[in-house]
Amino acid sequence: MDVVLTGDRPTGKLHIGHYVGSLRKRVEIQGQFDESFIMIADTQALTDHALTPQKVRENVLEVMLDYLAVGLKPDLNRFFIQSLVPELAELTMYYMNFVTLSRLMRNPTVKSEMQQKGYGQQIPAGFLCYPVSQAADITAFKANLIPVGDDQLPMIEQTNEIVRRINHHFDKAVLCECKPLLSKVQRLPGIDGKGKMSKSLGNAIFLSDSNDEIRKKVMQMYTDPKHIRVEDPGHVEGNVVFMYLDAFDPQVDEVEVLKEDYRRGGLGDVVIKKRLIQVLVDIITPIREERLRLEKNKQELLSLLKDGSVYARHIAADTLKQVRDVLEINY
Ligand code: ATP
Ligand code: MG
Repeated sequence: MDVVLTGDRPTGKLHIGHYVGSLRKRVEIQGQFDESFIMIADTQALTDHALTPQKVRENVLEVMLDYLAVGLKPDLNRFFIQSLVPELAELTMYYMNFVTLSRLMRNPTVKSEMQQKGYGQQIPAGFLCYPVSQAADITAFKANLIPVGDDQLPMIEQTNEIVRRINHHFDKAVLCECKPLLSKVQRLPGIDGKGKMSKSLGNAIFLSDSNDEIRKKVMQMYTDPKHIRVEDPGHVEGNVVFMYLDAFDPQVDEVEVLKEDYRRGGLGDVVIKKRLIQVLVDIITPIREERLRLEKNKQELLSLLKDGSVYARHIAADTLKQVRDVLEINY
């Protein structure tokens, strides 16, 4: 049985990093496996947004709109809201006993997020433990295939460690191991070229952006600081505009020719930026229009999520029972 699980934090609308890093893959594989769960991770979003819960709440439906607008189908995927499946929180509580503090502190993704957020020792305990809650999400549904960007690989490793620890200790196949399904583009940089594109860092192009916003953002993009005059030879490596063309432009051969011209000198930044604007407008326009159409019926989106959550609860409750059994919580 092949079960796919993915999810996103409702901390903002989804962006083109999500699109190439995960959404496009999800659309491509939908219907190919026995079951697919797509979770809006509001409980996890609260680990660093507990003081602004209204932001998380508002974004639940925004993320759902993005899902449907990119072409994820309700008859091929079970959409649900994490907090409506409280079994996940209970599993997290038990799994925390199988993970050490030093192991959590070593998680490279958590480490870099702690740094970005400037937490230091003031890190919320819930945030430090979010990889454990991800292990609960994955294992509750016996998911074995996880389409993600490479920032999520440490979470998959962490999950499999918990699975092996529990199965080995109780000498029973209670939980299933999982593996990532990686996309071609694993980590799209932000328009500032610094870190990865992220909803929280103000460096994203959103799937809901207007053509004008797309144009402004691309024109601001960082290229090659040494490429001052058009005739100067330019660098393609580390050049954000070319990274985006590699990720999004369907005309791969033409992009290769442009790269040669740019390296040689004589190709201006404005030319490649204009091309990128057109490529992104072509991808985003139908998504944005579908989003606007779907937005008119928010009630329907919510009921899809609620129905999905009821179904998800049944499955998670079954796994929880098995975990409670080995922990001898079966009074
Ligand atoms: P936040 O800033 O709130 O953490 P985020 O933009 O990092 O938001 P997440 O909800 O944490 O988004 O990530 C959801 C999924 O999207 C994960 O599978 C992650 O690997 C993928 N993803 C996020 N950002 C990128 C990116 N820049 N490039 C490729 N994949 C990405
Ligand atoms: Mg993130």
